[in-house]
Amino acid sequence: MSNPGATDPITLLAPLPGWSTPLEEVPDEVFAARLLGDGVAIDPTAGTVHAPCDGEVVVVAASGHALTLRTQGGCEVLLHVGIDTVGLAGEGFEVHAAVGSRVRAGDKLLSFDLDLVARRAKSLLTPVIVPAGCGFRVLRHSQGRAVAVGDFLMQIGRAGEAQPEPSTTAGAPAPAATLTRRLGVRLEHGIHARPAALLAAALKNVDADVRVSARGRQANARSAVALMALGVQHGDEIELRASGRDAGRVLEAMAAVLATPAAAVNAAATVGAAARPAQRAPAALVTLPADGVLPGVIAAAGLGVGEAVQLRRPEPQVVEAGAEPATETALLTRARATVRARLERAAQAPAGAGSDAAREIAAAHLELLDDPELLGGAGALVGVGKSAGFAWRSALRAAADALRQLPDPRLRERADDLLDLESQVLVALQGGSGSVASALPPHSIVLARELLPSQLLALEGSHVAGIGLSGGGATSHVSIIAAAMGIPTLVALGPAVLAIAAGTAVVLDGRRGVLETRPTPQRLAGARAEVVAWAARRASELAAAQRECRTADGVRVEVLANIGSLAEAEAAVKNGAEGCGLLRTEFLFLDRQTAPTEAEQAAAYEAIAVALGSRPLTIRTLDAGGDKPIAYLPLPPEENPALGLRGVRTGLAYPQLLRTQLRAVLGLRERARCRLLLPMITDVEDLHAVRAILDDLQRELAFPTGIEVGVMIETPASALLAESLAREADFLSIGTNDLTQYTLAMDRGHPQLAARLDALHPAVLRLIARTAQAAHAQGRHTAVCGGLASEALAAPLLIGLGVNELSAVPAVIPQLKARIGSFAMADCRKLASQALECETAAAVRALLARTLPQAGVVP
Ligand code: PEP
Ligand code: MG
Repeated sequence: MSNPGATDPITLLAPLPGWSTPLEEVPDEVFAARLLGDGVAIDPTAGTVHAPCDGEVVVVAASGHALTLRTQGGCEVLLHVGIDTVGLAGEGFEVHAAVGSRVRAGDKLLSFDLDLVARRAKSLLTPVIVPAGCGFRVLRHSQGRAVAVGDFLMQIGRAGEAQPEPSTTAGAPAPAATLTRRLGVRLEHGIHARPAALLAAALKNVDADVRVSARGRQANARSAVALMALGVQHGDEIELRASGRDAGRVLEAMAAVLATPAAAVNAAATVGAAARPAQRAPAALVTLPADGVLPGVIAAAGLGVGEAVQLRRPEPQVVEAGAEPATETALLTRARATVRARLERAAQAPAGAGSDAAREIAAAHLELLDDPELLGGAGALVGVGKSAGFAWRSALRAAADALRQLPDPRLRERADDLLDLESQVLVALQGGSGSVASALPPHSIVLARELLPSQLLALEGSHVAGIGLSGGGATSHVSIIAAAMGIPTLVALGPAVLAIAAGTAVVLDGRRGVLETRPTPQRLAGARAEVVAWAARRASELAAAQRECRTADGVRVEVLANIGSLAEAEAAVKNGAEGCGLLRTEFLFLDRQTAPTEAEQAAAYEAIAVALGSRPLTIRTLDAGGDKPIAYLPLPPEENPALGLRGVRTGLAYPQLLRTQLRAVLGLRERARCRLLLPMITDVEDLHAVRAILDDLQRELAFPTGIEVGVMIETPASALLAESLAREADFLSIGTNDLTQYTLAMDRGHPQLAARLDALHPAVLRLIARTAQAAHAQGRHTAVCGGLASEALAAPLLIGLGVNELSAVPAVIPQLKARIGSFAMADCRKLASQALECETAAAVRALLARTLPQAGVVP
């Protein structure tokens, strides 16, 4: 590793082993909204921080939890261990490098007690930050992967014309005509990362130059790193010097903040309010576009009009010391009883698409609420004098951290359930109901950085008119549940969505994928009328949904459902599905320690087939690997899981698993109306390999007839080879989620690419067209079962491209059928040929949007 010339890019190596994580996932707005700067966080698996590059240690926080290293090119990189660790006041931390010392990449900088920090801090996530305005920017980074100390983490380089903010300077003169204030700092932990970032960010939009002097040094208050470098502690005397138009007000506001013990988090709000009354929250530092229209990604289509509500995960404060153990135990028991009552109501909710997920999550939380390990852990702490809240929080966080260490990501995700339950009980301990839903005004547009599935499900029945998330992906769990609940939802709206003041009237347009934050009164009235008309239309579409689907000129198009459980099969039938075009059998294999037996599988498939009545059932063989790892499969860790052992490749690598599943399907009483679908096919070799197993089983089981076998077209390879596949397969089914990811080379779960990962991209459409043509040439049927089939807007286009079957999420089927019925084949073909000529996905969307009035359908 070398950091040679001043303008050469600098490589920063991982200072800790662990999992490199996007900053958006850090549970602190200062880091997540990049108020301090850009970078990557590491979820550490060991407690020693090493130097990410050669450099000089310029700041070490008094509490040893943070350190700034100046690289050879002059960039001051901040390493901040954990979140809210300043409150530990140095407990568990040991610093190995003094201020002013020169270090080499890999040298030990500080160490910390991983267990203690995990138990006592809000999070272990350790951001590595290239400060905003320091003259450097992140050129590329590695995130979403396991890193060892010394692995590549980031490359940084000069930020174009931007000049570094002046850092701490010994005695640099402040501008003329300055106002001065001296004061004692009363912030509990001094000017640490959060108040420094918030103060610096709050000065962005004010006309004032502000310098802070302390301990013989001076810092430009616009630079968070320079402020931190002052090392100001609680009780220190500092001097503020300000000049410029807003100098007086800014100085007053800053003085008020710095002199208030608990004001750190609200610092920016107060300062911002002094200078620009409209900016009220830290998130308001991120500006909205001039027209007030925020673009996002559609996760659930529809239109919502209402009042903005900012939803944050409740984070009740707890005190450590408790009263008598018997008193604290009684408090905890009462709080758990409040939460239990609510969870039991949710667990018994009547069946329905959204409620199914609600029931499952409530049942899981109920189990955790009475978990003997958790209760034992909390009880032990109460027994030694801790408060009920402190004990409950400590017990749940310890268990959550243990889960986070597990290799199976799905088990790791259960840690979120624990944190969720932690909040529910703590809210109940403080006298709340543990549910936010009751506090929401009617027609709320709920805005949040992210939502846990349980938070979303708690909103059911509470008049939520729409959901807008700053992060997230259109195929995430929350998006899928929102779609099932019929709540218009936009994701990836960016941090500006968190800046919208609560109570603002907004229009969430899940047809165009935009959130309108400053609609005119006319627009509001028009949108409200549309919502009413839309609800009426949905009711009439549902009433007509049981009819066979045909285009306006009578061409038959089959509309089936994608399902992943018996409950969804029931919902599909109610919504008019003509069968199941994709049964994701993963639901039987995930979240367990051993594979399901043949009998277990047969019983599950049988129940679904019965629920579908006489309709066809397409059973996809296990699509494991990649983003769907399975705990009991010894799949090796992969550099690129999406390009590795997944889909049918996993089945062929573990043939016993595939054989058991195929035996279960071949043995079904309803075999005649079942068909098999093979995921992630590359070419006919995959198909031959599965057919060989099937032939073998058929001989072994002595079945006279075979079963139809279709292949999924999810890779550019299989689309380009569709002709040879169609010669040998009984049907083709296009998985647009993966086909888009592989065609555009964009990870389907990547939050920053979510807006561009569009299955309507003309490159994907050309592969769909080619597949359908090849299939027809062989007299085969072409289905689309990826997410694009659930977009009503796209239905006529897909039909025009030659697709004969759409398999969609149950909730959209009535609307899909209505839209297909409003187009004649000639119009569909015209649309398809126009779309194939488009150059971008946006152009295709614009083309389709123009067809909306023709169909009279609001998607
Ligand atoms: C697809 O890739 O489009 C598909 C239907 O499969 P899955 O979403 O389950 O990967
Ligand atoms: Mg797929």
